Amino acid sequence: MYLVITCYRCGQLLLAQARQKTRNCPHCGFRFKVEKSRKIAYAKSAREASLLLRQLKNTLKGKKYSALK
Ligand SMILES: [Zn+2]
Repeated sequence: MYLVITCYRCGQLLLAQARQKTRNCPHCGFRFKVEKSRKIAYAKSAREASLLLRQLKNTLKGKKYSALK
């Protein structure tokens, strides 16, 4: 099982495996507990997860994150 979660420091989307305890954010380098992060979506395979991540990024682009740029 794979998860799409958000980093609770920078708010970016990233992928994690459900059995992982901790995850380093590839965007800001912050290390956090997967179980405490906000879960956006679930996927069964890595391929499905990366597709989901891309879709979610496109959906969010120009909305929430436009204010940051
Ligand atoms: Zn981050």
